[in-house]
Amino acid sequence: MATDGLFLPPQILGAVCWGAEGVPQSSDAARDVLAAPDDADRAEADRRLAVLLGLPEVRALLDAGEGALQVVPDWAQDQVLLLSLSRPGGCAVLALTDIGPQQRLASLQQDFVANVSHELRTPLTSIRMAAESLQMGAMASETLRTKFASNIQREAERLTRLVNEILVVANLRGRPVLHLSEFAPLDLAQEVIATLEPHAALNHVDLRLEAPDDLPMVRWDRDRVHQVILNLVDNAIKFTPAEGRVTLRFTVRDSGLEVRVIDTGIGIPEIDRPRIFDRFYRVDKSRSRVTGGVGLGLSIVKDLIVAHKGTIDVASEINVGTEFIIRMPLRAETAAAV
Ligand code: ADP
Repeated sequence: MATDGLFLPPQILGAVCWGAEGVPQSSDAARDVLAAPDDADRAEADRRLAVLLGLPEVRALLDAGEGALQVVPDWAQDQVLLLSLSRPGGCAVLALTDIGPQQRLASLQQDFVANVSHELRTPLTSIRMAAESLQMGAMASETLRTKFASNIQREAERLTRLVNEILVVANLRGRPVLHLSEFAPLDLAQEVIATLEPHAALNHVDLRLEAPDDLPMVRWDRDRVHQVILNLVDNAIKFTPAEGRVTLRFTVRDSGLEVRVIDTGIGIPEIDRPRIFDRFYRVDKSRSRVTGGVGLGLSIVKDLIVAHKGTIDVASEINVGTEFIIRMPLRAETAAAV
């Protein structure tokens, strides 16, 4: 029985049918669900189908003749296969849908809302406590008044930063239009250094710029790339102890530019490295609490680089230092979408 021409509702990615002869036949779409596109050879898909059909819970479903169940297959932990069995026109049809992506999206959204609420609640609680303390008598003391007023100010600043970052995230989730212009990257690098020099000096960190004089012009969204580099260099200074060094290095590589932000700081543990570009991810909540971050900075950085069709990688060693490596094409395309 041919199944490839079968009409499938859009959410159903593939079907396996049993004709009168009782031999299961899978559609091309079902094979794609079963074997990732890069190893989508028929034999592997058929092998996986045999494994799937051999699972006790799937056998029970087939015996029941109708119904649905979810299976997380051995070969792809990020897949969640929804199998639903029906009998249209006398033959048995097993519809296969990978609902893993929807489930991941739903859980990301839940996490995002939970994280935002948590991050908002913390400064709000501090503000409420400071205001209550003032009402309950702290107002009378000059020292306490100053202390609680500056607590309120600090926490309000934190709230403002958080709301601003959430707005940037929301904007990036749509289709950010890049405002591209042609400019000299060296000027931008010097601006970043000039802005952060006082911050570095205050922390006794040696801040350096290494770039050849003849860097080519680039066509990027200047403000957004400025924000990216500022953020990385700012982080590097924050996480580098006194007498350390932070280097911003520009190099021409292949047909693009490579930007490295290198520090001699505390490093990022190996276990955290794959997740530091996730929204709200902080390596160690206590150290970020001190530095005031909410874990959105690097996720914004990554979105902006991806919008320019660039890449970002990180290499790090505990108590030796961290290096962020950005590779960007010299000319980004207009209206690149994330
Ligand atoms: P935040 O907005 O809280 O600063 P980021 O997204 O910028 O968060 O960074 C994520 C995590 O990565 C932070 O918890 C921070 O501890 C860590 N991190 C970022 N840059 C560095 C660095 N150069 N050295 C060590 N840790 C870093």
